[in-house]
Formats: sequence, structure tokens, C-alpha cells
Amino acid sequence: MNAAARQPQLLLAGGGHSHVLVLRQWALRPQSRPASGSITLVSRHPTSLYSGLVPAVVAGLATLDSARIDLKQLCQQAGVRFLQADITGLEWGRRQLLLQGGERLGCDILSLDVGAITPAPADGAMAVKPLEPFLAWVHALPAGAPLRLRGGGASAVELALALVRRGHPCRLLLRGPGLALGNPAANRAGERLLAAAGVALERNGIYLGPADLACTGSQAPPWLAASGLPVDPGSGRVLTETSLAVLGQRGLFAVGDCGLVSARPRPAAGVWAVRAAAVLATNLERSLAEPPVAEPPQALRCWTPRRHALQLLGDSGAGRPDQQPRALALWGPWALGPTAWLGVLKHRIDRRFMDGFQGWVPPN
Ligand SMILES: Cc1cc2nc3c(=O)[nH]c(=O)nc-3n(C[C@H](O)[C@H](O)[C@H](O)COP(=O)(O)OP(=O)(O)OC[C@H]3O[C@@H](n4cnc5c(N)ncnc54)[C@H](O)[C@@H]3O)c2cc1C
Repeated sequence: MNAAARQPQLLLAGGGHSHVLVLRQWALRPQSRPASGSITLVSRHPTSLYSGLVPAVVAGLATLDSARIDLKQLCQQAGVRFLQADITGLEWGRRQLLLQGGERLGCDILSLDVGAITPAPADGAMAVKPLEPFLAWVHALPAGAPLRLRGGGASAVELALALVRRGHPCRLLLRGPGLALGNPAANRAGERLLAAAGVALERNGIYLGPADLACTGSQAPPWLAASGLPVDPGSGRVLTETSLAVLGQRGLFAVGDCGLVSARPRPAAGVWAVRAAAVLATNLERSLAEPPVAEPPQALRCWTPRRHALQLLGDSGAGRPDQQPRALALWGPWALGPTAWLGVLKHRIDRRFMDGFQGWVPPN
């Protein structure tokens, strides 16, 4: 086949929040799918977990299936090939992804949405990320086993409360004097929630033993930095332009927890991966579109993320006489709640997100 007739290959690496939304858009509106080229999604599992529902799964308030997005089916509906494989590296100079087992996957355009992992715990504690082995660990716990969680952020607080609701007495091991929920009002409200559920706090890194579970922040997969791409030194997230294209690289995008918009950095949270999806879809389409001869390629769309995003931290109803789940709303320097109506709002937002994948029929 001569080079001019060759179809460009787009690889979507990882079934993260941005990629599933891009796929859903292509499935719902096939005319928005790039017209030329072949598209492949490569991801470790045939399903992707929606993390907003993970505490509810742990608490026994939602089934595992209700938190899973079927990547194979979604790809089929979007006209995209699905490949289940573990990515171990990237040689961008050769436009190749390296897969476990030694296989290489070539591409012309690559979009990275592989999420983040919990930095490897030194004391043998279970890491919360990746989520699949963590959930298997939860399901194998002996009933009522007391647990010690390391971490003071939103996932540590939500999971401690969820595990209490599941019947495990919990302690939280904090590196500093208090929680790290983003602002003092949120930290105070979080401490009240934990106290009401009987979760004790060990502060300032003075622990009485090793932890069982580590919820100690997120780190981009190390193979990204090892590939020589520009990364943020602290988190290992790949640095991008506001177009989500990796700094100085054409045809390479990074989004979600594994990417960081260098001019407008936002924390690693699913809400930002969700919001970036529309810009990513446009820019993938523009990158794949073949410009008429002698015309420059189309300019990429820029993303202007809002300053703050609403985060709803659920308590799984732990320590409540009526077991009614409540939630705490966090937005920039503000915190509201916890209240039952915020719990209902969280439930609706999570359900609506998942209904977008489970409760629709693609057009013929
Ligand atoms: C308990 C918990 C609750 C949370 N709740 C919230 C919340 O309510 N709101 C919020 O905004 N954030 C929440 N977060 C944070 C949220 O999980 C992440 O920010 C979000 O998942 C990031 O999405 P992503 O698109 O970057 O990637 P992810 O959703 O992490 O997806 C990455 C995908 O890539 C695949 N993958 C990863 N590595 C490889 C590889 N090497 N090879 C092949 N495939 C690979 C994975 O299998 C997965 O499908 C929570 C986190 C935790 C731990």
C-alpha cells in the first residue's frame, strides 16, 4: 500500500473517564467520529470502573456491576476496535506502545488516559489504586476485621466510612495534624463525620503499627516518565498544552489523572477527566482530519477549565441511626453539609453518569 493511501491509526490508551465519554459521543453521534483512519482502544480490563460509585460498592450500597462500564460493548457501538492488554511502555519516537509480553502497537496519533496508581506502600499495605485488585481485597476481608487506613484525603475518608458501613471498625493514620480535604471547613466537617462513625484518627505520623490500606494520593504510571515525555516532577503526570496535546509533541495527547495542563494545572480527580472529554474528542477529530493539499492542519481547540469543581464526599450512612447516606459538598475554599439532600444529589449525579452508559440504545 502506498503511503498516501494508508489510513492513519488512532490509539486510545486506557479506558479512563475521558476516553469512555469520547467513545460514547461517537456511539451516539456517529457523524462526530473521525471519518478517516482506524481507531483502537487498548485497556487492561474489558470494563472500566466509575470511581464515584466505588465507596458505595465497598459499603454494600451498590453492586460492582452498577459501577462498571463495558468497554468492549462501548467500542463496538462506537465503531472502535477493542484490545485487552497491559501497556508497559511507550516509544513515541517510533510511534509505538509497548505491551506486556513484548508486543508493540504502532500508531500515528495516540491519546493517553491511563489514570493513576497509589504510590507503592512501603509497609505492604493494600493500595487503593488500581481499583480492581483493591475491590477484590475488600471482598476477601474476614467479616468484621478491624482496619487501619493511611491517608487523609477524600478517598481515605470516604473509604473509611464505607468500610465502617460494611462492618469493619477503622482507624485513619494521618501524616499531618489533620485531614487534607482542601480547606479547613471541609477538614472540620470530615472529622465530624469520622467521629460520628467511630473512626479514630492517629495524627502527625505517630502510628502504632503498619497500615492495611494505603490511600496516599495518586501518581501517574512510571512508564510515562520513563518514556522521556515531559512530566511534572512531583506526580509524574505528562505535561500538556491547553489543547491536551503533550508539550512539544504533535499527535500525542494526555488527559485525566495521567496528564496535567501545564498552564492550568488541576488536581487529579475524575471530574476534570470528565470535563476534558469534549475538547479531547474535537482535537482527536481535527488531528485525524486530512487537510486539503497545501493547507496547514486545523488548529486545536483550547480547554479553559474552571477554577474549581464540585466534589461530593459521601458518608455511606456510616454511624447514622437511620443509615441514610449523607454527603459533604466541597467547592474551592467552601464546604457545605453533610446533609441527606446532598447525599441524594450525589446518588443522582452518579446514577446519571452511569445511565449514560447502561441505560441507552445506540442509534442504528
Ligand atoms: C475511592 C475513590 C473514590 C473517588 N471518587 C471520586 C469522585 O467522587 N469524584 C472525582 O472527581 N474523583 C474521584 N476519585 C478520583 C478518580 O478515581 C480519578 O481521578 C479518576 O478515575 C481519573 O480518571 P482517569 O480518566 O484519569 O482514569 P481512570 O478512571 O483511572 O481509568 C484509567 C483506565 O486505564 C486503564 N489502565 C491503566 N493503566 C493501564 C495500563 N498500563 N495498560 C492498560 N490499561 C491501563 C485502567 O484499567 C482504566 O480503565 C476517586 C478515587 C478513589 C480511589
